[in-house]
Amino acid sequence: MPRGVKKSDLPQKTCATCGKPFVWRKKWEKVWDEVRYCSDRCRAGRGPISSKKQ
Ligand SMILES: [Zn+2]
Repeated sequence: MPRGVKKSDLPQKTCATCGKPFVWRKKWEKVWDEVRYCSDRCRAGRGPISSKKQ
């Protein structure tokens, strides 16, 4: 029996911005421990709002 990982067995995390669960993706395989957001959009936006200064 090959020990592959079923899709349904992929690790999950909860997005720190929107609070939704999201599933491991290939692009995160090397940084999974550091991933906290489900998408670039969540990572970029809507955190604690300080003054928009850019
Ligand atoms: Zn999110």
